[in-house]
Amino acid sequence: MLKLVKVFPTPPLINHDEFLVIAGPCAVQNYEQTLKLAQILMAHGVRYLRGGAYKARTSPYSFQGLHEHGLAMLSAVKSATGIKIVTEITDVRDIDKFHDVDIIQIGARNMQNFPLLEAVAHTNKPILLKRDFGATVEEWLFAAEYLMDFGNEKIILCERGIRTFSDASRTTLDLAAIGAVRKITKLPVIIDPSHSGGDYELVPELARAAAAYPAAGLMIEVAIDPEHALSDKEETLRADKFVSLLDEIDAILAIVKKKRI
Ligand code: PEP
Ligand code: MN
Repeated sequence: MLKLVKVFPTPPLINHDEFLVIAGPCAVQNYEQTLKLAQILMAHGVRYLRGGAYKARTSPYSFQGLHEHGLAMLSAVKSATGIKIVTEITDVRDIDKFHDVDIIQIGARNMQNFPLLEAVAHTNKPILLKRDFGATVEEWLFAAEYLMDFGNEKIILCERGIRTFSDASRTTLDLAAIGAVRKITKLPVIIDPSHSGGDYELVPELARAAAAYPAAGLMIEVAIDPEHALSDKEETLRADKFVSLLDEIDAILAIVKKKRI
């Protein structure tokens, strides 16, 4: 039985009138482009840059990320611009390398990696807990419950699409999970329209639907030069398209009475 998420005692990381936007490439590839993107994001009020350094790829032959070099690039961009960093940890042995990271991401494939959850919880940093594409809402909340049981309540849940029979998109965005979670806990749920849609043409509409629901925020894959992205290029928005999407999101947020943070 869920115990801790039900009695969530402290204010959530994202208040009910706030909407968090996190944007950036699937994987960080080079310093100049990451810096340029961070500058664009900051200029448009987006204060969190995502970028994978350790990638949990389905195929062993896919680009696995720049590892320590990727983390160093993110840190350098953070120092240069003041942007905050969100990046995924895939191996408990890397935990000490994440000291400069502002929000540590647990990817879908590691949602039930309990030793990893414990190590991340003990850093006392905010945690972005993605829903495994094969997990029920209850299993996802139990993973959050592990984090709380390990002493960390700074949790942001991220719905990123689940596997269904639908072939309309890479995975099926389960928007109703926002409402299902809200019935049980005050933990915020943000939406990842990139991994759920799997196609950059689907991303803006899914993002707008999430803002209207309303979700507590969005995490979107954005790059300066998506054509040359080494991972998830088909779902990555170009920076200029993302900036137009932000205007549309802001118009929706005015209706649902939330402000972008
Ligand atoms: C990601 O955010 O880059 C990622 C790998 O997502 P997921 O764990 O949801 O597949
Ligand atoms: Mn990706």
